[in-house]
Amino acid sequence: MQSRNRTCVLLIESNASDAERIWAALTGVEDSPYHLDCTHSLDEGIAFLRQMDHAIDIVMVDLASVKDASADPIGQIISASPHARVLVVGEDESYAPEAISKGAHEFLARSQIHTYWLPRAIRYLAQQREHDLIMQAQQKALHDEKARANVALNSIGDAILTTDLAGNIIYMNHAAEILVGCARENALGQPLSDVFKIINRNTRVIATNPALYAIEKNSPVGLESDVILVRADGSELSIEKAATPIHDSEGAVTGAIVVFHDVSESRTLAVKMTHLAQHDFLTGLPNRMLLTERLSQAIGLAYRNISQVALLFIDVDYFKHINDSLGHAVGDELLKSVAARLVSCVRATDTVCRQGGDEFVILLTEIERPQDAAVTAEKLFNAFSEPHYIGVHELHVSLSMGISVYPADGENADVLMQNADAAMYHAKLLGRNNFQFFKTEMNTRAVQRAFIEASLRRAIKRQEFELHYQPKVDIASGTIIGAEALIRWNDPQQGVIQPLDFLGIAEECGLIVAIGGWVLREVCSQLRAWLKEGYAIFPVSINVSAAELKHKYFLSGINQVLQETGLPPYYLELEFTETILMRDAELSISVLESLKDIGVQLSIDDFGTGYSSLSYLQRFPVDTLKIDKSFMRDLTNDSDNATIVSAIIAMGRNLKQRVLAEGVETAEQLAFLRTHRCNEAQGNYLSMPLPADQFAKIMTSNMLPVLSVRQRTDSL
Ligand code: C2E
Ligand code: MG
Ligand code: MG
Repeated sequence: MQSRNRTCVLLIESNASDAERIWAALTGVEDSPYHLDCTHSLDEGIAFLRQMDHAIDIVMVDLASVKDASADPIGQIISASPHARVLVVGEDESYAPEAISKGAHEFLARSQIHTYWLPRAIRYLAQQREHDLIMQAQQKALHDEKARANVALNSIGDAILTTDLAGNIIYMNHAAEILVGCARENALGQPLSDVFKIINRNTRVIATNPALYAIEKNSPVGLESDVILVRADGSELSIEKAATPIHDSEGAVTGAIVVFHDVSESRTLAVKMTHLAQHDFLTGLPNRMLLTERLSQAIGLAYRNISQVALLFIDVDYFKHINDSLGHAVGDELLKSVAARLVSCVRATDTVCRQGGDEFVILLTEIERPQDAAVTAEKLFNAFSEPHYIGVHELHVSLSMGISVYPADGENADVLMQNADAAMYHAKLLGRNNFQFFKTEMNTRAVQRAFIEASLRRAIKRQEFELHYQPKVDIASGTIIGAEALIRWNDPQQGVIQPLDFLGIAEECGLIVAIGGWVLREVCSQLRAWLKEGYAIFPVSINVSAAELKHKYFLSGINQVLQETGLPPYYLELEFTETILMRDAELSISVLESLKDIGVQLSIDDFGTGYSSLSYLQRFPVDTLKIDKSFMRDLTNDSDNATIVSAIIAMGRNLKQRVLAEGVETAEQLAFLRTHRCNEAQGNYLSMPLPADQFAKIMTSNMLPVLSVRQRTDSL
């Protein structure tokens, strides 16, 4: 058929010569833009149009071809081909008005059907038809576009509301219908504020109408936080929203588009995350972060109200011991129980926080006098006099507390915390289970502690330690039969520091393991060197800390050092204090047995202070009991200490263990020990701990101390 780039014309003409003329006028030229079909009657023409189904652009009908006077040719043509343009040919101009009124697009009198007017009229109609087609295509495209946009807007998660300039709703998508809880039909035309009711979460005041605001500002208005949407049924949703003005093609504002979405879930999540970040996982108490925030607020408030704030820094006494011996699960439950008890002792406005580990901090806001904090502390002691029941265990725990008060002990959160901590540390030093108010002197102690820790780390790196050897003497023969290696720290600034001034800190910060390792190697190498040089050496003991005993490489470390230095194990003796051994007696037994297998000597240090039960003592495979030096005080025949010392000596004999008395300072003490047949003695009366070179001299001569002991013991 005809191609679409030519205009298709249908001619309905019964007169053959007229048809001929028209044919010639339209298609007679070369490259005619027209394709002409011709029918001879209206019926034929209508049938053809129906068959062509919209393919005809222009229908030209000669009214003379219509036989039936009652027929409505124009109406029939339009109904058969609604898009076609209709050109009517009549006898003269008088037919024109009627034809046009009936729907014809153009009229020509028969006399005008010639090569000039006809092509002009047809061209004009063809242009109109072209224009129609373009319009139709544009409308279709617009329609399709709208349909697509509608689908898109309805399927996205964001809710969208569009308003006109007055703020009345002209569009809303499906998500908006669901969120506001109102059907589109009911919302369209309503003022935005009637359908989209938003209020501020905190004040509950009606929030600014975002559409009108965007229109007024003629610019996008950003997200506003803390907005709640009150839905049609009264329920509430947290939302985030933004509004943007809409402009027409001239740039004038015609309305606004409001985009919003439900953030209830993410808000709940955010609230939960904040809670997690600010609370301790185990006890649910506020953590250090939240405490710092609350403390700063409390300080601000106390500053304005000229009142005071107290901080109680609390440490659970011997918690580590419970945790180590009964396991972490019991430890955790105990911490929860402690937390609950602390909370029960304070006002709802006070904050109980878990600082970490077994440390808790209580913030008492707006107290009138520092004594108020002491009242709370007393209350805590009372509450903790009752045991905690954890599973099958009945656990008695006490607290050490330090108190600092704003403004007297510090004007900011950090200083108050530090000072309460220093006071707590002091409470610990004073034997635990007590509370101490902060005093300026304590701070120097805390600062000193931090300083020692840093210096110790350096000391390990730079090898600032030295060992002194204190001889052990056989009381009966007066000969040196061993020595104890005792550590000294030569600090470049402070000079010689005694072990009791730094070992506690080394133990707390874990440096003790490295220090112990150094001592072991140093003693073994020194003894091996002396042995090589031909000295008649004897077993030398080293002191083992709790951390070393528990360390998983303790045994293998000893084996390795013995092997590497080549020292026969017999010459190495290890001293464990009674307290350390009793902390986990079963573990101690197995470690001691393994050590015995290696072949080293073993002794229990500071014996008499650690409440060992006899049943355990029998099972500890040790060679020597070292009576604690505190029992040497007032060692006259009828004193309590005399009774204890003689009992220990007798017990050692029964257990087939040697007994050594430490801290022998006088001839009287030595005489007492000799009378009671104590095996060995060690103390300043016999010899001070000596540097290695001086000790070597004693070994060579073997005369001086031994002789002097003989002389001293013989003379009594
Ligand atoms: P200890 O093991 O009971 O050592 C005996 C302590 O008594 C030593 O103190 C020694 O100098 C002191 N002493 C000796 N004779 C007398 C005396 O006649 N009178 C008095 N009052 N004291 C005397 P030192 O050297 O200050 O060591 C103290 C503690 O430090 C030791 O007690 C031991 O527990 C620990 N220690 C020392 N060196 C080391 C070490 O290398 N490693 C470990 N883990 N602990 C060590
Ligand atoms: Mg010792
Ligand atoms: Mg001792």
